[in-house]
Amino acid sequence: METMSRSTGIAAVRASIAAACRDAGRDPATVTLVAVSKTFDAAAIEPVIAAGQRVFGENRVQEAKAKWPPLAARHAGLELHLVGSLQSNKAKEAVALFDAIHSVDRPSLAEALAKEIARQGRQPLLFAEINTGAEPQKAGVLPQAADGFLAACRDRYGVVISGLMCIPPADEAPAPHFALTGQIAKRNGLKLLSMGMSADFQTAIAFGATHVRVGTAIFGTRRDAAL
Ligand SMILES: *Cc1c(COP(=O)(O)O)cnc(C)c1O
Repeated sequence: METMSRSTGIAAVRASIAAACRDAGRDPATVTLVAVSKTFDAAAIEPVIAAGQRVFGENRVQEAKAKWPPLAARHAGLELHLVGSLQSNKAKEAVALFDAIHSVDRPSLAEALAKEIARQGRQPLLFAEINTGAEPQKAGVLPQAADGFLAACRDRYGVVISGLMCIPPADEAPAPHFALTGQIAKRNGLKLLSMGMSADFQTAIAFGATHVRVGTAIFGTRRDAAL
């Protein structure tokens, strides 16, 4: 993709978000676009920053650690979100590097994050990931375990979870998964919903998404489609 088409990509995604918000009767200011830049290098990211984007998402701690400090030194106000799964032994690095973590999905990780948040005095925004499709290969708390997990985060680990995240099964209509995630959030008093990717962010906005995680529609197709 050329530089020109990346700024076109971000403009098109912004326009689609605005249209989806209009259709849903929502204020576009209530939807944060997380530009998922995983696998793309600084040269690919720069035009998107130049187009005014400040919130970016990565799925690997090591990749983000190598890529973002130089970009952050050149540009004020960047916000970095971890959207991929996190090993407990990387909690320290993750709390130091990220402003939000979308993938809190098990007690051991909640505990490790709580410890690092206290130690570093840094509080990234945390989302619990829900495996709405109960897919065995996928990370996330099962829907029926969500209330218990959120209670344990609050009462046992003392970690503040602000919202929920989901990735619907690739071969199913996403709407019921977004609806379920919204219901779990509502009954647990959580205000933030991280849902919607390139293929379905408009639907996610109709179901109340506050954070949409969009990669391909901004940056183009990733070389390794599995990432
Ligand atoms: C890669 C990724 C995205 C972005 O996906 P696209 O389909 O490229 O928009 C969003 N969320 C997570 C968790 C991802 O890993």
